[in-house]
Amino acid sequence: MAKNSNNWTVTQPLYSIVIPIYNEEENITEMYRRISDVMAQLDGETELILIDDGSRDHSLSMIRELNHRDQRVNYLSFARNFGHQIAVTAGLNFVQGKVVIVMDADLQDPPELILAMIEKWRQGYQVVYAQRLARKQESWLKRFTAYAFYRILRRLADVEIPPDTGDFCLMDRQVVDILNAMPERNRYIRGLRAWVGFRQTAVHFERDPRFAGKEKYTFAKSWALAVNGIISLSKVPLRLATYLGMLSAGLALVMILLVLYWRLFDPDSPLIGFTLITIALFFLGSVQLFCIGILGEYIGRIYEEVKGRPIYTVKEIGGMAQRSTKKSPESSNQHFNTAK
Ligand code: UDP
Ligand code: MG
Repeated sequence: MAKNSNNWTVTQPLYSIVIPIYNEEENITEMYRRISDVMAQLDGETELILIDDGSRDHSLSMIRELNHRDQRVNYLSFARNFGHQIAVTAGLNFVQGKVVIVMDADLQDPPELILAMIEKWRQGYQVVYAQRLARKQESWLKRFTAYAFYRILRRLADVEIPPDTGDFCLMDRQVVDILNAMPERNRYIRGLRAWVGFRQTAVHFERDPRFAGKEKYTFAKSWALAVNGIISLSKVPLRLATYLGMLSAGLALVMILLVLYWRLFDPDSPLIGFTLITIALFFLGSVQLFCIGILGEYIGRIYEEVKGRPIYTVKEIGGMAQRSTKKSPESSNQHFNTAK
C-alpha cells in the first residue's frame, strides 16, 4: 500500500505508464483523454508517471492540475531539460507497477496499442516493443536517416536491436529492475532494453503524426542519440583505426612500388615528388584525425561516467514523495532539491 500526496490510500498498481514531457502544452489534454480511455479498459489499477523534462511552457502547471484531479497521476519535474532518455530513466526509477509502459506525450505512439502489448505480456513476454510499419507525414529525410541508422546499428551492435523500434514499449518489473540497477549515465534505452535479454516480441503499428506542436528532437539531438546508440552498444568503431591503418599501409606499399617503377622506367613522370607526398600527407593526416575523433567519443563517455554526477536533478515531485526509488548499489542517480 502506498499513499499519494493527497493522502488517499491507493493499492500498488498493476500497470505504470511513463510519459516524458517537454513543452507539450498542446498535447497534454488530448493525451490524458486518450490514455484515460485506455486505462478504463485495463483490468488492473494503473498509475501514470509524467516526467516534466524542464518544460518552459505551461506543461508543468497542466500536469499539476491533472495530479490534483486524478489520484492516478503522479509526476516529477526536472530542474532543467535533461533530454528524453533521461526523462524515461527517471520515470522507470519511480514506477511501482508490475508492468511498465513507456510512451511519448505527442500521441505518435497510439495509447490503444497498450492493450495489445498487455495481451503479449500475458502470453509470457517480458518485453513487448512497438515496431513501426510506417511513418506518416514525416519528411523523407527523417525517414531515410532513421531507416539507414537502424540498419547500421544492427550491423555494429553487440546485441540484436530490432529495426524501427523506439522507446514505446512494455516491460515487466523484472526488466525494469535490471535497467534501474544499471549505473551508466549515458542511457540509450532501446539498446539497454535489447541488451537485457528475456523473452521479447513486437507489436506492429503505424506511427501517427504528432497530435500538435513541434518535434522536440532537433537534428542535433537526433544525431547525438544516434552516435550514443552506436557507441554505447558497439566497439566496432574503435577497430576502424586498425582497419584504416592496414589500408594506408597497403597504399603506402603500392606507392613505393610505383615510385620505384617510375625511377627505373619513367624518370620524367611529374607524379614523383611533390604531388605524391602532398596526397599521402593529407590522406594520412585525415585518417589519423578521424581515428582520434572516434577515440574522443569513447573517452568523452568514460569521462562522463567516472565523474559520477547524478543523472538528473528533480525540483518537484507530485503524488509519490514517499517512494523510495530502486537505486543501483554504487550510484545515487537522483538528487532531490525539494519534494513537495
Ligand atoms: N522529450 C523530452 N525531452 C526532450 C525532448 C523530448 O522529454 O528533451 C519528450 C517529448 O515531450 C515527447 C517525447 O520525448 O513526449 C518524444 O519527443 P519527440 O516527439 O520530439 O520525438 P520523436 O517523435 O521525433 O521521437
Ligand atoms: Mg514525437
